[in-house]
Amino acid sequence: MADSYFIEDKFNPEDRFREALQQVEPGFWKKKPLAEMNKTEWELLCDGCGKCCLNKLEIKGKIRFTNVRCRFLDCQTCLCRIYPRRFEKMDDCRDIDLAAIREKPRWLPKTCAYWLLDNGYDLPAWHPLVSGSANSVHRAGMSLQNRRLISETGITDYENHIVDWPDL
Ligand code: SF4
Ligand code: SF4
Repeated sequence: MADSYFIEDKFNPEDRFREALQQVEPGFWKKKPLAEMNKTEWELLCDGCGKCCLNKLEIKGKIRFTNVRCRFLDCQTCLCRIYPRRFEKMDDCRDIDLAAIREKPRWLPKTCAYWLLDNGYDLPAWHPLVSGSANSVHRAGMSLQNRRLISETGITDYENHIVDWPDL
């Protein structure tokens, strides 16, 4: 039986994205610093790539990503299946706040919208806010969709699963 807190079966990222878009000013991310964004704006900035939900190792002061995904990440949508209760259910799930974005060494992928904006870059053309579609991150091959991933359940040899994808 599915846990009641899992994302609902009918959850549609595209519909949710379009609905949230109605609540914000066009181009808000070009006008407001991250620190001043409201919750809807902040959530919309996430491109839905899912790459922050990969397990990582710190080796010689550098973060190395693995292809081992959090067990709660949905591989198809690249969304967290327990988003509203993630901190309750996963001890090491990190909130994406300014401190996390600025942490050294960098543990967010270099395509992460928060990291890009905080470091003076603009959003890429495939970002949903630029393209107007939540699916553009998948179409551009920038999400975890269709990548060779394994679930963390039972994994102990993370060092054998390090990946060197160019978008990390
Ligand atoms: S890496 Fe950044 S943009 Fe991608 S899912 Fe995580 S928070 Fe969102
Ligand atoms: S629990 Fe945290 S790390 Fe796991 S899928 Fe959800 S947001 Fe990602």
